Amino acid sequence: MARSRRCPAAGTTAATLLLLYLAQLGTGLKCVCQLCTNKTCETGADGACWNSVMLIDGKEEAVKSCLSPSEMKGQVFCYSSRNVSKRNCCFTDFCNNETLRLYPESPPRAPGWSKLELAAVLLVPLCLLCVGALLGVCTAHAKRCGRRRPHKHDAEDPPDDQSLMSPNKCLKDLIFDMSTSGSGSGLPLLVQRTIARTIVLQEIVGKGRYGEVWRGKWRGEDVAVKIFSSRDERSWFREAEIYQTILLRHENILGFIAADNKDNGSWTQLWLVSEYHEHGSLFDHLNRYAVSVDAMLLLALSIASGLAHLHMEIIGTQGKPAIAHRDLKSKNILVKKNGTAAVADLGLAVKHDSVTNSIDIPSNHRVGTKRYMAPEILDETINISNFELFKRADMYSLGLVFWELARRCSVRGIYEDYQLPYYDMVPSDPSIEDMRRIVCEQKLRPNIPNQWQSCEALRVMGKIMRECWYANGAARLTALRVKKTVSQVAVVPDVKD
Ligand code: ADP
Ligand code: MG
Repeated sequence: MARSRRCPAAGTTAATLLLLYLAQLGTGLKCVCQLCTNKTCETGADGACWNSVMLIDGKEEAVKSCLSPSEMKGQVFCYSSRNVSKRNCCFTDFCNNETLRLYPESPPRAPGWSKLELAAVLLVPLCLLCVGALLGVCTAHAKRCGRRRPHKHDAEDPPDDQSLMSPNKCLKDLIFDMSTSGSGSGLPLLVQRTIARTIVLQEIVGKGRYGEVWRGKWRGEDVAVKIFSSRDERSWFREAEIYQTILLRHENILGFIAADNKDNGSWTQLWLVSEYHEHGSLFDHLNRYAVSVDAMLLLALSIASGLAHLHMEIIGTQGKPAIAHRDLKSKNILVKKNGTAAVADLGLAVKHDSVTNSIDIPSNHRVGTKRYMAPEILDETINISNFELFKRADMYSLGLVFWELARRCSVRGIYEDYQLPYYDMVPSDPSIEDMRRIVCEQKLRPNIPNQWQSCEALRVMGKIMRECWYANGAARLTALRVKKTVSQVAVVPDVKD
């Protein structure tokens, strides 16, 4: 814990300070608080006044506030760094009223301990609790994150691990840093590990093929943590690897934050940390709510944009390979607060190396979710060495997702109940054979209701679906084409993150 470098007025003994502190235990403290309306806050019983100075964008920034007992107890991480931050907790009214400085170093003074230093020594065990101080500063900074543009690093001078983890960083800053850290599309591994190990898990929000997804807290902000069982290590590694593909980051692809593998002696915990989206999956969302025409188009446009970015190859030394998802469905798409969507669950994705014309992992014919499998996957006629065919199979699945979405679109108060594709043709857990029979043999597709013709947006959506469902993959629309067609009918609002 950093100690104050200023000397308080003479005359008070360390014992008096200790007594004062003890007397105040159990009652609240009044502290200086810059962010509070009357510049004062009260801590409640067993809290502390908190004083800090940090280097932000090359400038010293002091933060003074109150710490609640829970903040002091909070499981927090502190990348304590000389010349980067200094923190001080104290336990008397307005004791944080002094301004800490990082520079210049305080002038040399006569030997001997000041009263405050003496008090600090006596209070060291108590001050250890103040590690919780970080939680306070992070909350304050998290608030500021929305307003402040992150510092733009010089491209030739990537931020080091220390500056990446400085306590003033919030998620937005870190995500911005990922594009400037010179490590592809992800943060340095040490930073990822540090983030993952300071997350406090809160509640389970989803279950999928590989384990549980939790909502967790990191520096006061929500994050999603996908926890894989140790036997699924390959899936964990694969998904983390895909998310860290250079230039993958996109507003309509789930924002990856960190991967961590922690051996606790008996088993290995495998975590994948990403941005958290409180509305959950598109499947959950559509089950709960009907959507307006504009909301439907915004979702459709953003899903197509995410998929188009995934499919796109960007040529160059720092280019992006084309990626096929291979498990596109409403449960693998998340709905963001601003009404747009993010494509998620990249665990089965494959990358294309256009130089060698190879796919990066040995593939088998059938992966993904049976209900959403394209006809050529169901009947195993797909040529798995031709990467283009995987993209076409994604387009078939996209058509099914659009169908789920369009059914829930409310026009003049009329909409349908939520249903999975082929709900009326196959059992609830269909086998490959069930699906093959109706999709390949009988060539059936989900029903497109007549009333969709009376609404321009639904008519366009219906046409897109049909053109995604052709048995001949080569005839299907591309993601880019779908994106362009939807954008012609959608009035795109000025969406903010
Ligand atoms: P799996 O690979 O096991 O299928 P997913 O990544 O698809 O795991 O996640 C399973 C479910 O967890 C999703 O359908 C969704 O309900 C929820 N979920 C996943 N990621 C997030 C997130 N970032 N924010 C909110 N909910 C999420
Ligand atoms: Mg999934």
